[in-house]
Amino acid sequence: MSAVPPEPTPSQAPPTLATPTREPEPTSTKPSDFPKVKLRLELRDLSHESTDLFLKNFNSAKDFADLVDVVLKRLYTFPNHDDPTTSLPTPSTTKIPGTRSVTLILRDMDGVAYTTGSDIDNDHKEVHLSLSYLNHVASARAGYTARDEILGVVCHELVHCFQWNAKNTCNGGLIEGIADWVRLNAGFVPPHWKKEAGKSWDTGYQNTGYFLDWIEKSRGTGSVYVINQALCHQKYHEDTFWKDLFGQSVDDLWTEYTESLKKPKDSLDDSSLKMQVRIKKEVEGHS
Ligand SMILES: [Zn+2]
Repeated sequence: MSAVPPEPTPSQAPPTLATPTREPEPTSTKPSDFPKVKLRLELRDLSHESTDLFLKNFNSAKDFADLVDVVLKRLYTFPNHDDPTTSLPTPSTTKIPGTRSVTLILRDMDGVAYTTGSDIDNDHKEVHLSLSYLNHVASARAGYTARDEILGVVCHELVHCFQWNAKNTCNGGLIEGIADWVRLNAGFVPPHWKKEAGKSWDTGYQNTGYFLDWIEKSRGTGSVYVINQALCHQKYHEDTFWKDLFGQSVDDLWTEYTESLKKPKDSLDDSSLKMQVRIKKEVEGHS
């Protein structure tokens, strides 16, 4: 007869990790119309010092979801018609890509970050973020935190997960410009960004981002929305794309923009700055 095994004793629970105290957050009474997206986090090197830095500065559940919301709102919300700056025709429908999941992967690699479709299919995206890059930014700039940079870079990459690309025919500078326009509009502006004309309108990144911002302010709130929607429906032909939307070639718009930069700072800059501060608070206030 075998001995009755002793009652199992529960092992001691691991100590609770210290988490920052958070104020209860108001629940939105208006459920988001945007599709639900599965978000995942993959840490490929727990021994890397930047993994810890990342976890201390990025609330992976909350910040990640908030940033997806920030991106979707800016790409897929057409402005209210009470807005006097809006003169663009109301779109009949809004099409959003069928992205089903985004996996944020932290790993040691060259560069800053990139976005790709996963091995499963293109509806499952992967955002790869460089641990060595985070290490570098953490120590490099006073007054600009690692958290600011993480939010900004992830915001930029998330745009690539949700923007249209004219069936892969879109000008790469425009793709990058839209991503940095969202980052700019959301208020995650790194100290080295300058509002200046680069070599051409499609230099990409913040150069094109600031150009799109000028279009948004001078041609109507919702201009970037309209550009992104047009990239869903058709292939990109530069000769007709901009004229169809704004009645002008992109070169004419660019010339007008570069001329505007030579003028003294106008009131638009102030309102833009106020808007950026407000939007930044939307995200920061939740963290
Ligand atoms: Zn990019």
